[in-house]
Amino acid sequence: MVSRVIPVDNFDLVIFGGTGDLARRKILPGLFRRFISGQMPEEARIIGAARSDMSVDDYRVMIRDAVHEFDPASAKHKDCLERFLGQLGYVAVDAMGEGGWKELHAEMRENTVRAFYFSVAPSLFGAIAERLKSFGLADDQSRIVVEKPFGKDLETAKKLNRSLSEHFDESQIYRIDHYLGKETVQNLMAVRFGNMLFEPLWNSQYVDHIQITVAETVGVGGRGSYYDTSGAMRDMVQNHLMQLLCLIAMEPPAKFDPDAVRDEKLKVIRALDPVEPHHIVRGQYAASEKTPSYRADVENARSFTESFIAMRCQISNWRWAGTPFYLRTGKRMKARTSEIAVVFKDAPHSIFGPEAGYHRNVLSIRLQPNEGMTLGVTIKEPGPGGMRLVDVPLDMTFAEALGPDAEEVPDAYERLIMDVIRGNQTLFMRGDEVEAAWRWTDPIIEGWQRRNDVPKEYDTGSTGPDDALMLMHRDGRRWREIKE
Ligand code: NAP
Repeated sequence: MVSRVIPVDNFDLVIFGGTGDLARRKILPGLFRRFISGQMPEEARIIGAARSDMSVDDYRVMIRDAVHEFDPASAKHKDCLERFLGQLGYVAVDAMGEGGWKELHAEMRENTVRAFYFSVAPSLFGAIAERLKSFGLADDQSRIVVEKPFGKDLETAKKLNRSLSEHFDESQIYRIDHYLGKETVQNLMAVRFGNMLFEPLWNSQYVDHIQITVAETVGVGGRGSYYDTSGAMRDMVQNHLMQLLCLIAMEPPAKFDPDAVRDEKLKVIRALDPVEPHHIVRGQYAASEKTPSYRADVENARSFTESFIAMRCQISNWRWAGTPFYLRTGKRMKARTSEIAVVFKDAPHSIFGPEAGYHRNVLSIRLQPNEGMTLGVTIKEPGPGGMRLVDVPLDMTFAEALGPDAEEVPDAYERLIMDVIRGNQTLFMRGDEVEAAWRWTDPIIEGWQRRNDVPKEYDTGSTGPDDALMLMHRDGRRWREIKE
């Protein structure tokens, strides 16, 4: 199969926080991979901006090291890497002050797509947005890219949105949720809306329940002080799991265009019922022989913040009334895996009798570690011996059918940055979606605070607290296995 990489238009991309962890680990290595693929034009320019005083040469050395450290496979393309580094610039700019802005302005070219990536703390977003306008760096065609966290509750999210919308139109604001950039997440939409097969079954009449699991094996690491003020609900559920739930549950948009898709996602969030306290389980990981407890990691012996959450959600609309959505995410769990599972109902009657065995159809959409999609289908076990049924996975990733192209799919950041340059907002969150998600999340968190809710301890390397298993058992269901 012939590669279908379509180069994007020429661009100037300024990365505020260009020396930070996210820029070095994800953004610049991602851009380099797009450069290798031929998608990033040779005339495009990337300008790092941060307070540190350094020369362009020093910045290039920093980014060369970052590519070697975070993407050793790409770093082997030595000539390519040197050409890519040649397209990098650096300007020392203080987001909160006046220094460096004129120099940055002098670097920008006319008639080129201008994008500004805010890879800095959200407290700097408003100041940068304001200066981009007052120093004349941004015009009506420019784009700004912002990273999570988008607030810590509805009030702060609204404030953040206001600080951006004072200077930029919503059509210029790209709020990144990298889960939406994953190949499989987009494939989910292709499978749902590109086939006749699934959509008629995609409702409470045929779907028993849906499970969304995002399990990590790592602890909070060096992010302890941030994480302890956030917890799994704010850090994962309000954004990533919510976005996955929306894509699974939304009505077919009339077109695959940014507002049509985001309108449908918004309707899902608005149709979510408040969650009853007994439908939520919170947990904190305990120490193991080799690893510290959550409380030791965040250096807060009295922390009541959750590193695990499991919950049963309900969407009150015609399509989903009666089909629960179970969400689960946590740190220091048994394996690193992200999966959405659509579990279909039992066939109404088995003509083969109980001895043949019976298996429910499950559509499994794996986001990591091996992105892919499988549909569990019941067939006859081969060979003599009567009619015995087995469950076999129908692999819908089609890696072989699509050939080498399928193996070289861009990672989420690469794809999303290219979408910014193309001006396509479909896979970015709109301000009203973010606010609606907080409107649903806030009462849940306030309820814990009111009740002084204490998270249950769970073993490192487990599937979370036992109460999370009970959440499903009570409904006569069980979680899917967490495995790599
Ligand atoms: P970081 O490593 O602390 O980097 C912060 C960057 O901002 C540095 O380049 C710093 O350089 C620059 N900076 C700080 N104050 C500045 C100012 N007044 N003016 C101009 N530049 C300034 O942070 P990070 O991990 O890269 O995270 C950046 C943002 O992405 C944060 O909002 C974070 O929540 C979000 N995020 C990060 C990750 C991740 O994996 N790291 C994942 C998701 C979201 P100087 O000190 O030289 O100014």
